[in-house]
Amino acid sequence: MDVMANNERRRRRVNLKGLLKKNWLLIATVVSVMLGISLGVAVREYASLSHLHKQYFGFPGEILMRMLKLVILPLIISSMITGVAALDSEVSGKIGLRAVIYYFSTTIIAVILGIILVMTIKPGVSQTAQHIDRAGTTPNVTTVDTLLDLLRNMFPENLVQACFQQYKTKRKELEPAKFLTANTPTPPLVTTHTMATMENITLDYKIIGTYSDGINVLGLIVFCVAFGLVIGKMGKKGRILLEFFDALNDATMKLVHIIMCYMPVGILFLIAAKIIEVEDWEIFRKMGLYMVTVLSGLAIHALVCLPLIFFVIVRKNPYTFTLGMAQALVTALMISSSSATLPVTFRCAEENNRVDKRITRFVLPVGATINMDGTALYEAVAAIFIAQLNDYALDVGQIVTISITATVASIGAAGVPNAGLVTMVIVLTAVGLPASDVTLIVAVDWLLDRFRTMINVLGDAYGAGIVQKLSKRELEKMDLTSDVTNPFALEATLDEDEDECEKKSYVNGGFAVDKTDAISFTETSQF
Ligand code: ASP
Repeated sequence: MDVMANNERRRRRVNLKGLLKKNWLLIATVVSVMLGISLGVAVREYASLSHLHKQYFGFPGEILMRMLKLVILPLIISSMITGVAALDSEVSGKIGLRAVIYYFSTTIIAVILGIILVMTIKPGVSQTAQHIDRAGTTPNVTTVDTLLDLLRNMFPENLVQACFQQYKTKRKELEPAKFLTANTPTPPLVTTHTMATMENITLDYKIIGTYSDGINVLGLIVFCVAFGLVIGKMGKKGRILLEFFDALNDATMKLVHIIMCYMPVGILFLIAAKIIEVEDWEIFRKMGLYMVTVLSGLAIHALVCLPLIFFVIVRKNPYTFTLGMAQALVTALMISSSSATLPVTFRCAEENNRVDKRITRFVLPVGATINMDGTALYEAVAAIFIAQLNDYALDVGQIVTISITATVASIGAAGVPNAGLVTMVIVLTAVGLPASDVTLIVAVDWLLDRFRTMINVLGDAYGAGIVQKLSKRELEKMDLTSDVTNPFALEATLDEDEDECEKKSYVNGGFAVDKTDAISFTETSQF
């Protein structure tokens, strides 16, 4: 009896040790979030830091952000090229189409959910715009220009520049008199875009192209897809390039692993510095109902809508899948950027949830750039909230316009902090609300941004799991006919010394192929 009890106790201890060992990083990150909050509150309470010292205080957090951003470029380039080259063009077309259908449908679902909630809770009805303090300035963006800029950025004119700058156009109003007298053709490099007639004055604009800082992810993705397809078609000749990018991808992921060890420290200071920095906590009381509406929408989308879609298609426990993504979700919550979270999203999806690398390499970078369910939901809620504050009754047509523009605005938003707030102006102007009213919601945006980024990342991860399931047949077919241009097959042939089992899992991009391995997959898989 005693022996049995001892054995049981030992087994439990080993289990706990294994669990701690496997999840030490996640546990450390969660602990650091709590420590960060306590430290932030304590410093706020007992030390009065100058602006300069507050900035010094946030230094370790700043380093984490810099490190995460550092690996985005090699990661996106290597994963997209090898991901696309591993698939033949027909398969990548099918996977791409499935991913895009998933992105669109979940974004529309998020928008509809947001609209239903804000119309039911009516957070803006009990107060008026005058009661809320404004902050910041109004960004200047329009729907057409955002869409056109998106297309322009897809085709960067300079690949090196695309690694650090994006193209952005601005409208400049032409002086009416100048326009009326100048009955001459439009000057070169100036596109006459819109004309609005106000009584006798005709307004006209010219579009001025500028560059703004930030990686042009969309441009790089388009280039890498094309490049990957070409390499894939080159056969043996393209093999050296493939080997190069595949090795680059592996090396980058190893760097990501090192960065993640620093994450608990960085996160502790990021959150503490933010708590010290916030000046107006009173605003949360005033905007309480609005925040509850956005947060409950995000929660329903993350806990009901996405898991339901996942379960219906994949037939596996969606919450185990979410747990597997926990590290990426906490990171997104802390740094408010889906692009900077991408390295962690990759690791969680591939290692914890065992999503096929051929899918993650393709679906995750595109998702981090265009699939933003959280942002879309937030934009719809915020627009209707502002309408309610202004006592502005919206008709059905305007609600439909909000749904469409919120979807467009979320696609146009970059995966960086506060991007959704900037594209918010598109939604407001589309239904005739004052664009300057975006300043009403600025004060609480830093907090909402964190939560919507988390949902954006979760949506991308679920997308990878779902697209994998839908593409199972094609992937299995490819495993049977693996050729030299497939980097996953390539790795297997290169690592001839490795044991049989490991080779098989390479060939299958992380999935075990034979019967014994298939069983081990079901056992170890997190979803
Ligand atoms: N911060 C969000 C993201 O990176 C975008 C947004 O502002 O909504 O996904």
